[in-house]
Amino acid sequence: MKTIIVWYRNDLRLSDHPALITAVEAADVVVPVFIFNDSLLTGHHSSANRNRFLLECLSDLKHNLQAKGSDLLVRSGQAEEILVALANELEADEIYYSADYTPHAIKRDKAVKAALESAGLKFRGFPGRLAVSSLENLKTKAGTLHKVFTPFYKNWLQIERRQLAVLPDSLTPLATHIDVGNFEVIEDSIDTKLLSPDVLKGGETAARKRLTEFLDTGINTYQETNNNMSMAGTSRLSSYLHFGCLSPLEIETLLPQSTGAEAWRRQLAWREFYHYILFFFPNNAQQEFQERFRSLKWEKNETAFVAWALGKTGYPVVDAAMRQLLQEGWMHNRSRLIVGSFLTKDLGLDWRLGEQHFMRWLIDGDEANNNGNWQWIASVGVDPAPVFRRLYNPTLQQLNYDPDGSYVRKFVPELNDVPDKYLAEPWTTPAAIQQSSNCLIGRDYPAPIVDHKLARVAALDRYREASASQITDS
Ligand SMILES: Cc1cc2nc3c(=O)[nH]c(=O)nc-3n(C[C@H](O)[C@H](O)[C@H](O)COP(=O)(O)OP(=O)(O)OC[C@H]3O[C@@H](n4cnc5c(N)ncnc54)[C@H](O)[C@@H]3O)c2cc1C
Repeated sequence: MKTIIVWYRNDLRLSDHPALITAVEAADVVVPVFIFNDSLLTGHHSSANRNRFLLECLSDLKHNLQAKGSDLLVRSGQAEEILVALANELEADEIYYSADYTPHAIKRDKAVKAALESAGLKFRGFPGRLAVSSLENLKTKAGTLHKVFTPFYKNWLQIERRQLAVLPDSLTPLATHIDVGNFEVIEDSIDTKLLSPDVLKGGETAARKRLTEFLDTGINTYQETNNNMSMAGTSRLSSYLHFGCLSPLEIETLLPQSTGAEAWRRQLAWREFYHYILFFFPNNAQQEFQERFRSLKWEKNETAFVAWALGKTGYPVVDAAMRQLLQEGWMHNRSRLIVGSFLTKDLGLDWRLGEQHFMRWLIDGDEANNNGNWQWIASVGVDPAPVFRRLYNPTLQQLNYDPDGSYVRKFVPELNDVPDKYLAEPWTTPAAIQQSSNCLIGRDYPAPIVDHKLARVAALDRYREASASQITDS
């Protein structure tokens, strides 16, 4: 009797799961397992919000596997030791997994592969994390690696996709003597003080519901609505994609033919672009992709960082965005761009501080996407553009992308009664109106912690100083 272990990581679904379906076709019994380790539970990148979401994903996966007659085994410890022990116990000789492309995952999988092979076991990776099956074929016409998004995107669109993997209605049950384990270790690890109150529910079931809703109501208008921070114009599928509750390839096949759908597919390609970049340039995890900016002199200002993180900078749109992160464990993409520009350009603080703060709170916090986007907005990464293009004026951003102020008023309630005319720059509100709108600047809402006009000049100077090449300011 042939037994194959399927090691689940961030591919927490049944639908279109190539590792699972190949195992089901090749073996008499398939044993799905998830392994907790210290790095996931309490490591540098751990997050209470993400771990709670993960717990929900795993409970849902277990439930869905049980509905097909199988189950999810749960273990805790070093993956290589657990997999070898489990293979011995179950007399399995192969372990299948979905390939992951981040430096951390690649290092881990190398160590696991070596340990399994020396124990006589086969360790086989499968696609499924991305819509394309491999990143290796994506090259420029000159045969070099892509460093600019648009040519990557055009190339990515042309790459042939694999067939979707379809699972049978039922799976072979696991032997009754196997200890299936439980979720205690992750339940115990979650620090409830660091949980956001208004979050989406994790798991493939919730993900499919959200996807159906978006395809029914949002996809065709995506292009017009996706930049407005107060509209539910985006899919909010990022956390499900991060944990692999949905297959990006399956979503691609479900997209209608419309301008909105094409604009959305382009966003999906950004996700694949940043996975590609970190895969081929793993040092980006620590340092700026652009060498000339590795000597940037970042400010050291803990007070400013805390004001940013808590949403108390005195710039309403920045504060609304940062409070949305704490409240929902998610932030609108336009808001992420605004707060990223504000941290790195207006406050002159190191983008790595922002990256870490996002990793602590975002449910979709993803090493590749977070790093790539932080480097992009800090103007130090791939897909370069002149610094001034990614140096946003918070007032104009608010007026353009929250024109009626509903986003700001939702997350910064102390500005509720401030008239529209002053909402983007509340410090300009005349004293009598501050009184009548119950919002005294400096008492009820902070005065701006920085003057954007001056900060803009200082930022351009900072980049100019670090760079050997000329930085223009318009
Ligand atoms: C500073 C900064 C940090 C970010 N950190 C993360 C992160 O840790 N994890 C993460 O998933 N996204 C990150 N993003 C990208 C983007 O903001 C989110 O993916 C998006 O807001 C998720 O919402 P949505 O699912 O409604 O997106 P939609 O607009 O519906 O887009 C569909 C999908 O495309 C992908 N996508 C969209 N925009 C981007 C982008 N700019 N880069 C990469 N993928 C994208 C996501 O998977 C998203 O779910 C970051 C952006 C910035 C500016």
